[in-house]
Amino acid sequence: MGGGKRSAGEGKSATGADTVSIGQAMHDLIRELYPICRSITGEGFRRSLEIVSRIIPLVRQEVPTGTPVFDWTVPKEWNIRDAYIKDSAGNRVVDFNAHSLHILNYSIPVHERIKLAELRPRLYALPEKPDLIPYRTSYYKETWGFCLSQRQLDSLADGEYEVCVDSTLADGHLTYGEFFIKGETDQEVLISCHSCHPSLCNDNLSGMALASFLAAALKDRHLRYSYRFLFIPGAIGAVTWLARNAERAWAIRHGLVVACVGDPGNMTYKKSRRGDAEIDRAVIHVLKHSGRPYSVREFSPYGYDERQYCSPGFNLAVGSLSRTPHGEFPEYHTSADNTDFVRADALEHSLETYLEVLELLEANRTYRNLSPHCEPQLGKRGLYSSMGGYTHSPEDQMALLWVLNLADGEHSLLDMAERAGMKFPVVKYAAERLLKAGLLEEIRT
Ligand code: ZN
Repeated sequence: MGGGKRSAGEGKSATGADTVSIGQAMHDLIRELYPICRSITGEGFRRSLEIVSRIIPLVRQEVPTGTPVFDWTVPKEWNIRDAYIKDSAGNRVVDFNAHSLHILNYSIPVHERIKLAELRPRLYALPEKPDLIPYRTSYYKETWGFCLSQRQLDSLADGEYEVCVDSTLADGHLTYGEFFIKGETDQEVLISCHSCHPSLCNDNLSGMALASFLAAALKDRHLRYSYRFLFIPGAIGAVTWLARNAERAWAIRHGLVVACVGDPGNMTYKKSRRGDAEIDRAVIHVLKHSGRPYSVREFSPYGYDERQYCSPGFNLAVGSLSRTPHGEFPEYHTSADNTDFVRADALEHSLETYLEVLELLEANRTYRNLSPHCEPQLGKRGLYSSMGGYTHSPEDQMALLWVLNLADGEHSLLDMAERAGMKFPVVKYAAERLLKAGLLEEIRT
């Protein structure tokens, strides 16, 4: 990829000044975004895009309420300023300002006095995790409610409470952010992250941080593919983007949905609906040679926005690369998915893995051996001994033979790496040396 130095490892913090590790900078960004009450529409989403725009210049798109998008309609815009439950003494016993998860996301406005017995059906808690606040939404049914820990709920005395949700649900817009890097070709790699969750770190802020820093790492490189980064509200955002771009979605050759990339668990790849797309093979190759445990899942029509990208009308080659998948860590969709749960080293490792996958896609070319009748003599071309101060390993020598043998215009470098059981960069390096020696030509597909 452009031969540029790998930028993972150090960089600027989200706030600009100090040199910190990339992982720490990602974590800083998550901490800054954490308190904001995001939703599938509204000012919290916009403010989050503004913060990301300090790292990459996002283009903000606004789609009006009521716009038909395939079988869906862009919903009303939701904004919230304050919400609380006050006891008879006037104390805020549940306070939206203390945690954005306290409000049932998309709650309609209310301000009234209510008996605890009537309030109870509108209170959501987790009896099995009594210290945690759950995350609940009601996007498509107009109602209101609060989320609180079971301990808070148990501590509410009988009697009357003042409830207030100072929100608006009105015609407005659905907002999303887009960042495009033009490469040599119009063929695109899609990186998509949902950005609609409020104060939750692994499930969605980690994806936003990874997409931001990945885009920043790529934007000044010489690239073969064009890259499209989407920061969208989950489900309705992907549906909206696809509806507005249905005619040009064909350009997406490879894609990854980013989420849950900051927890300490192992990497998990969920294959695209196609199952054997180049992106599937590329990710699995990188994970296989990573020296770390990992797992691979088959596609299923559940999960994140790969559901939309892989719907049969599009069937794009889009998989999802995460650490512990959604719903499989106990902190998922609770207040325990906080800034302590996501870790700088895990974020950085996830980013490096994504970069490795993209570097593989960039370099995965097909060649023809220009001297295919018996082996060409490598010694006289300086390819078979230590030359110019560079000593090549036996694996490097072996890789030359593999590339020469399989460079028949039919095998990509990834095919060769898989067949030879070698890491992709070793095979890529062999191809570069053979190309320089005039023994290969690239087949443009
Ligand atoms: Zn979620």
